[in-house]
Amino acid sequence: MANPADKDNVRVVVRVRPLNDAELAAGHRSAVEVNSLAGSVSLRSPSAAATEPPKTFTFDLAFGPDSKQFDIYNQVARPIVENVLEGYNGTIFAYGQTGTGKTFTMEGVRTVAEKKGIIPNSFAHIFGHIAKSAGDSKFLVRVSYLEIYNEEVRDLLGKSQSQRLEVKERPDIGVYVKDLSAFVVNNADDMDKIMTLGNKNRSVGATNMNEHSSRSHAIFTTTIERSERGLDGQNHVRVGKLHLVDLAGSERQTKTGATGQRLKEATKINLSLSTLGNVISALIDGKSTHVPYRNSKLTRLLQDSLGGNSKTVMVANAGPADYNYDETLSTLRYANRAKSIQNSAKINEDPKDALLRQFQKEIEELRRRLEEEGDGPGESGSGSGEESGGEVGAEEGGGSPGGRRRGAGRPRRLTEEQMAEVQAQLDADRRRLQQEKGMAEAERTRLQQQVEQHEKELAQAQRAHDQLAEKLALLEKKIIVGGVNLLERSEEQQRLLEESARELERRQQKEQQLQQALQMKEAERLDIEERYSSLQEEAVGKTKKLRKVWQMLLEARCELDDLRAEQQREKEGLLENVRQLTSDLRLQQLLIDQVIPAEYQAMVEQYATWNDEIGEWQLRCVAYTGNNMRRSSDTGDQDRPAQPAVDLSHVYLTYASDGPGVSVRPKSAKHRHARARSAAVSAPKVVKQRV
Ligand code: ADP
Ligand code: MG
Repeated sequence: MANPADKDNVRVVVRVRPLNDAELAAGHRSAVEVNSLAGSVSLRSPSAAATEPPKTFTFDLAFGPDSKQFDIYNQVARPIVENVLEGYNGTIFAYGQTGTGKTFTMEGVRTVAEKKGIIPNSFAHIFGHIAKSAGDSKFLVRVSYLEIYNEEVRDLLGKSQSQRLEVKERPDIGVYVKDLSAFVVNNADDMDKIMTLGNKNRSVGATNMNEHSSRSHAIFTTTIERSERGLDGQNHVRVGKLHLVDLAGSERQTKTGATGQRLKEATKINLSLSTLGNVISALIDGKSTHVPYRNSKLTRLLQDSLGGNSKTVMVANAGPADYNYDETLSTLRYANRAKSIQNSAKINEDPKDALLRQFQKEIEELRRRLEEEGDGPGESGSGSGEESGGEVGAEEGGGSPGGRRRGAGRPRRLTEEQMAEVQAQLDADRRRLQQEKGMAEAERTRLQQQVEQHEKELAQAQRAHDQLAEKLALLEKKIIVGGVNLLERSEEQQRLLEESARELERRQQKEQQLQQALQMKEAERLDIEERYSSLQEEAVGKTKKLRKVWQMLLEARCELDDLRAEQQREKEGLLENVRQLTSDLRLQQLLIDQVIPAEYQAMVEQYATWNDEIGEWQLRCVAYTGNNMRRSSDTGDQDRPAQPAVDLSHVYLTYASDGPGVSVRPKSAKHRHARARSAAVSAPKVVKQRV
């Protein structure tokens, strides 16, 4: 393909929020210092001695407490959204402890222009871009919004909030969520309404919204398809997918004192987050051959975003207060590791599941039929809006998914000419009825009926015509033509965004100049220091260097202690999980011991094998149970198909009304013996009729 993948690293930026009123009132101090010029963040431990140096991490960008939403958009999100408009996949993750500004960064305050977050600003950006595109570009924009809570996927735009969706995979289109709604939008206001609807649904069923949002992952996905005429004269479709992900809080669960059911939930929620961590570890390890994407819903759905076909940014949100030191440190470390992930993004050109092409075909077909109507009754059978991956294109603003179909009474369609003919006939008949007063009664009745018939026919034809035209208009409305201004209310937002992008550029130029001047000064200083003019100066110079090296040693020691402490905390967390799982396991074992004799447990254990592909235990001879077993014994032993690795055909599980049991169908003395032994163990139910 003439479309090679760009190899680039996941960009990682850090954003530290300001101390809030409660923290200020409680006298908390900031433990974090941000150097946005250098892109670094320094963290000082509240318990450390004054001599202990702070820990410093460097990222692609670092934003301090007074960073503006527009700056975040322009520096972090804008490049990604531009890429998506070009047909790349893009992902922006917000990672961090609860209360550090993930939702503020992703969504912000949607009613205040300067406080809008990445999602609403991306709406203004996308439609602003379309408005400026050439008129021969056609766009189809659709959004979906889902939540992962407790390893269950919920469609936040779906009709039923109690429904749980399945994550599926197909070789041609990859991983997708079955039956997830997708809403076609054609202006920024539509997107805003959809976001409101999704957020309302997020709180459905949540007893405590704060707790719910801190434990769930929300993924807002915008798919942009664009079609343009290529150099080859053909129309080509490019598809970019933008995932905007507000992750669950990264804080350790032990801190929240979860127990029982809540601990179980926490373990499950951690499953997605901890799998995310494991995926990152495997990706940056270099030696790992297996990346555990399949181990959680989040990593399965976003497997392209990490190490795959996507341009990805991670925004690590952190709180500044000293009491958050541990969590902030852990967030910075996490973010620091993510920097090394390599992705290879490529433009998605002419994918099989492009809806735009399907819609355009349908539009052409409808237009053709409108022009040459009259060739009999009919409705479009193509069901506008059905996407192969299981998604549906829905009417915007909460309409029912899929194209609406009209039911009974399909009228005959007439061409415009035929309609005019009928109309003329109708007029003539009407005139005759009025003018020829002396007409025979029978003739008058016949004419009257004819007039009524024609009136009916005409009305029906008109309705059919209107239906087709309406359907066409509906489809055409979904496709946005480049150069058409659809910003409406968000025009102001787009203007503000662009203004701040220009301002940013000016600032960056100035900063760059300053930085260069600073570097030159620093180089000069070092140069002077290096040329010692006397022994005395040499001693001073070397002492300085020694101090520097000493400082580095201290930093390294601190780092080591920290890593040890972090590892210890992680170990304790894992041990706690192990204790919980052991207790669960004992309960399961107790249940099993009650119903399955030990001998058969051993047998099942012997023949069970672990299937790494699907992550499940399987009985190797499962094909030789139930009806399959009957079939194979009916045909006689010599006709049997090739034997499985182990012949378990004489063992089968039965479920009698009074409880499950294991049965043995005696075939030989050996088997009879086995049966007698099993009876001695716990008298299993003997099944007379084979299952
Ligand atoms: P999270 O989603 O990570 O749990 P939120 O986004 O809900 O955190 O932020 C918690 C609170 O802090 C909110 O009231 C939010 O408005 C405020 N906040 C977060 N980041 C900032 C920021 N950069 N500037 C001002 N207020 C912020
Ligand atoms: Mg939040």
